[in-house]
Amino acid sequence: MDLKSVIREIPDFPQPGITFKDITTLLSNPDALRHAIDLLEAACRELQPDYVVGIESRGFIFGMPLADRLNVGFAPVRKPGKLPGPTHRAEYELEYGSDCLELHQDAFAPGSRVMVVDDLIATGGTAIATAELITKTGCELAGFGFVVELSDLGGRKKLPQVPVISLVQY
Ligand code: 5GP
Repeated sequence: MDLKSVIREIPDFPQPGITFKDITTLLSNPDALRHAIDLLEAACRELQPDYVVGIESRGFIFGMPLADRLNVGFAPVRKPGKLPGPTHRAEYELEYGSDCLELHQDAFAPGSRVMVVDDLIATGGTAIATAELITKTGCELAGFGFVVELSDLGGRKKLPQVPVISLVQY
C-alpha cells in the first residue's frame, strides 16, 4: 500500500502558493487508514512510550488509535482556552505572528516517557512547542511520529535529539 497515492494534494490552500497535503483521502480509505496506523504502531512501539500526545486537531486522529494499539494513555495538546484544568503554555512563531498551545499540567504520571504524534511536520514549529510542553511537565520526550514529512522545510533538524518517525516524505 503506497500511502502517498492516497494523500491528495490541493493547490493554493490555505493560501496561494501552498500545496496542501490532504490526509482526509487517506482517512476515508479503510485499507490505507489501517496501514498507516499499523506502520506507526510498529515504529512507535520501539520508543516504549507511556503516553501518546496528539496535537490539535489532526494529531488526535492518528494519536488516539495509536495510543489504543500501544495500550498507553492519550493526552491532547490544544489551542489556548480549550483545556479546562491548569495548563502549561508554549508559544511558537508563525510566518505572520505567533500562536500558542496548551497541555494539562497533570497530563502524565511523574517520570513518564511521552511521544508526540501529528499528521504532518513542515517547519517543525508546532512539534517543537509541543516538546517544550512535555519538558515543562518534567516528563521525558520519547520521540515524534508523523504521517507526512515535508523534508525540504527542514523541520526534523530543529527538533530535540530524539527519534523522529515519518511514514511518507515529500
Ligand atoms: P509546522 O509547525 O511543522 O510548520 O506545521 C505543521 C502543522 O501544520 C501540523 O499541525 C499540520 O497539521 C499543519 N499543516 C501544515 N501544512 C499542512 C499540510 O500541507 N497538510 C496537512 N494535513 N497539515 C498541514
